[in-house]
Amino acid sequence: MSNPSLLILPGDGIGAEVMVEVRRIIDWFGAKRDLAFDVSEDLVGGAAYDKHGVPLHDDTMAKAQEVDAVLLGAVGGPKYDNLDFSVKPERGLLRLRKEMDLFANLRPAQCFDALADFSSLKTDIVAGLDIMIVRELTSGVYFGEPRGIHMEDNLRVGVNTQRYTEAEIERGARAAFELAMKRDKRLCSMEKANVMESGILWRDVVTEVHADYPEVELSHMYADNGAMQLVRAPKQFDVIYTDNLFGDILSDCAAMLTGSLGMLPSASLGAPMANGRPKAMYEPVHGSAPDITGQGKANPIACVLSFAMALRYSFDKGDEATRLEQAVEKVLADGVRTGDLLGDEDTTPVSTSGMGDAILAALDASL
Ligand code: NAD
Repeated sequence: MSNPSLLILPGDGIGAEVMVEVRRIIDWFGAKRDLAFDVSEDLVGGAAYDKHGVPLHDDTMAKAQEVDAVLLGAVGGPKYDNLDFSVKPERGLLRLRKEMDLFANLRPAQCFDALADFSSLKTDIVAGLDIMIVRELTSGVYFGEPRGIHMEDNLRVGVNTQRYTEAEIERGARAAFELAMKRDKRLCSMEKANVMESGILWRDVVTEVHADYPEVELSHMYADNGAMQLVRAPKQFDVIYTDNLFGDILSDCAAMLTGSLGMLPSASLGAPMANGRPKAMYEPVHGSAPDITGQGKANPIACVLSFAMALRYSFDKGDEATRLEQAVEKVLADGVRTGDLLGDEDTTPVSTSGMGDAILAALDASL
């Protein structure tokens, strides 16, 4: 049987720097765990624009459609800020998400004990936190028609439309229930069924899908209450499923429970392919960080944890994903820190490759 395939798109700025460390970790799994991948690498964002005049070449798009999973670094940077909207680096990312039809965005908020002090909330509220937000990513108010700004009675009126079909709600719900089955089997669906018809439909459809997942405990919450509960007692949640707009806000809110942007992975999943694996793209939440590019300061952990998500959700290697997450946890517990993870204490930061070295050493120690 051939190896699973992985397309790596490092992108711009620190995207390329953190991906170097992830490639070393991918190689480690090939050498030490008999888990080799057919890895190909290509350009996206400003790097693709520099070579091809577009932020994503058609050939790269075609490759992304064929592989088992895509792992992306980050795109963008000041050099590209004045480009026409149609060729901005972010358009490459959006094209990948749209053409791969990645409708479920998974944003874990996991608080490593060693970093609990980093949260803006009290340590006991976030220590041991491990929740997952599933945001519907390709429909809802960001895409609904009609939209625009027009004149009515000499006044400008701005219009956006929240629109969901039951099919759009259902496929995301299935992804969320499947995830809950792999975790603590609890799912909380968030909408505003008290004031929005799309929320009533959302609640109905999620309840219908629940019939296929009787082992999962389903609850419903209004999204505004959800926001309060996330900062009051976030550990009450396991998996949260919510729409595009609420998910945008709630996932950023949950992200900050855990401290640094340099720690946050994400996955975007689509429909299953012929081999049963979902279309998938994994990427850190952070951007290309031009302020620290080229200085060896970038924290590679968000990208490393994105690869751990790929192991779990694309390659069904949950044990190996846990091995990698535990290696990261050990490194942090040992006090190894990149600059973004330093508080007031007098510790010397390690470089991007220093963090990579430490994670590889912890992986070796796990054997
Ligand atoms: P950013 O995430 O790049 O950086 C925000 C701050 O966090 C910076 O101070 C940066 O140094 C720090 N930071 C981010 N990741 C870090 C890491 N791994 N280790 C250490 N520190 C880290 O956001 P920004 O500055 O608003 O945007 C910079 C560029 O990235 C822009 O061109 C923006 O459009 C793009 N961007 C891309 C993505 C993406 O590719 N998914 C996401 C957000 C922003």
